[in-house]
Order: sequence, then C-alpha cells, then structure tokens
Amino acid sequence: MTHPDQPVRVIALMNQKGGVGKTTTAVNLAAGIAELGRKVLLVDMDPQAHATLHVGADQQDGPTVYDLLLDPSIGLDACVRRVDDRLGIVAAETDLAAAEHELAAMSDRNQRLARAIHASARDDEFVLIDCPPGLGVLTLNALAAAQEVIIPMQAHFLALQGVGKLLETVRLVRDQVNPELRVAGVVLCMHDSQTSHSKAVVDDLAAFFEAQRDTGLPWAHARVYRPAVRRNIKLAECPSFGQTIFQYAPWAPGAVDYRELAASVVAEWDRAVRGLGSIRGGRDALSEAEIRVLRGQREPIE
Ligand code: ADP
Ligand code: MG
Repeated sequence: MTHPDQPVRVIALMNQKGGVGKTTTAVNLAAGIAELGRKVLLVDMDPQAHATLHVGADQQDGPTVYDLLLDPSIGLDACVRRVDDRLGIVAAETDLAAAEHELAAMSDRNQRLARAIHASARDDEFVLIDCPPGLGVLTLNALAAAQEVIIPMQAHFLALQGVGKLLETVRLVRDQVNPELRVAGVVLCMHDSQTSHSKAVVDDLAAFFEAQRDTGLPWAHARVYRPAVRRNIKLAECPSFGQTIFQYAPWAPGAVDYRELAASVVAEWDRAVRGLGSIRGGRDALSEAEIRVLRGQREPIE
C-alpha cells in the first residue's frame, strides 16, 4: 500500500500446523484492532476459507484471493468485502487449493500477493493475513507480503518441535525474497496457565527468544505476547454464527483476551511509528489504567 501518510503493518499469522489458533487469532485480533478505531484488512489465504466464514462474508460475492493471485491486474480493492466500517476481508474459496499448481510455472509466483498489496492505494493501517497450514506457495505469498510474522501456538512440548522449521522458513524468505521480514512473536492460544507443563513450555520459549537478541536473525526481537488467549468455548462457537467474538459474546474471556491483545499490538505499532521506543516490550506496553479500561467491569484477568 502506497498511501503517503499511512504506514501499514502487514502481519502474517503463520504456523504450518493446523488447529493451533491461526484463524481464530487472525479474525478476532483484526476485529479487536478495528474496535480500537483502526482500519484493518484481513486476507484469507486458506482454501478452507474459515476466516471468510468466520466474519460472515460471502465467498460468491465477487473476486477472491484466488482470482487476485492468478490475475493481480484485478487489483486488491476489487477483492475486498466490507465486514463493517473499519474491517474488510479478501475472501478465500476452495479453488484456492489449485493455486499452487496453477502458479507453478510463474516465476513471480511467491510475490503475487505482495505486489497486489503494495500496488493498492487503500488506507488500511493493519493487514492481517491468515495462512493455511503448510509451507506451500500460499504461505510463501503471505511471508513475501508481510513485514512481521505472529505465530499462534499452544504451549505444548510437541508444538515447540515445529517452531524450528517455521523459523527456518521465515529466515529463508527473509534472505531470498523479503529482507524486511521478522518474527514479532508468539500468541499462546487455548491456553491453560494452571498446568506446570504449559508454564515450563512458556518459560522455555521466552528464554529461547531472550537468547536470540543479538543474533541478527529475523526472530531476534520476538517475544511471547501477553495476554495468552485462554481456552474459551465462545471462541469455538462464534464462527458458526459468522460473527467475531466481539459480536457474539463481547465480555466472554475470549473477547477480553483478544481485546487486550489487540491493544498491545496497536500500542507497540504506535510506539514504533512515533519512534518513541523499541517495538519490544510486552504487556507493559499498556499502562495499568489502559488495562483496567479494556477489562471493563469484568473479572480481572489472572
Ligand atoms: P487454525 O487456523 O490454526 O487451524 P483455528 O483458529 O481454526 O486454528 O482453531 C482450531 C479450533 O480451535 C477451532 O475450532 C477454533 O474454534 C478452536 N479454538 C481456537 N482458539 C480457541 C480458544 N482460545 N478456546 C477454545 N477454542 C478455540
Ligand atoms: Mg485456519
């Protein structure tokens, strides 16, 4: 996006494993950022089209991301469906599964989404890309288009195993295609903070990132985002109603967590844009007063 006064933060929600919370985080983080008054575009890169269904968008209603990848001259704008005043989505469709094959012969196959985003004159401040599971051409398009990767995952030992491969992919894309790319951090999904196992995994993850600080690797500034998103049945229910958690159950724990996460993501961005500090930080990116406002009249978060 080339809007002169509007820097844009493009974030890919990526993990090659399925079922870890990518789509739930892409949709509800996007909606949470929009609730804060910022313009957000969600891009659904998964042929399963879960993000598209989650926001209640119609797959048939105009061109989708599949059409855009095959023919970037359509332009990003023609593919955006409006969800509300501040949130739009580029929908996916099942045909997207064929894109890998259809793009195979094209030398710019991994950069088609990036080109479409950069060529657009839209004034969205945040673009969140929901990646499919896997590390194929659709995920590579997301990584080529993004500045940052956020990794949704569970705090399980086995989930950690996949992170090395994921980081290596990010490094390859940075080295070969997108020098700007970096890992912003991990969002813990379906989190149970009570078990000693999950505590140990979170500690390991935080220690790993701390040890990477001066390496110059794309994850040298990564962190574990706060808050972790608690397991909350309302988050699993709301997609079938075509609603975000803020529409479906605005004060459920899932809404409280994604609202606070959105505020943290916006706060670090504002700081980066204003150049007031490093993009690192964490929950302390928010003042206690801001956190109280976000919590409304509800129970404090543990
Ligand atoms: P992915 O996009 O990585 O495949 P999803 O976001 O679709 O993962 O999540 C997998 C399943 O877990 C979905 O059914 C979703 O509704 C559910 N889910 C995700 N986050 C939570 C949560 N915090 N609490 C309860 N269920 C969740
Ligand atoms: Mg998904």
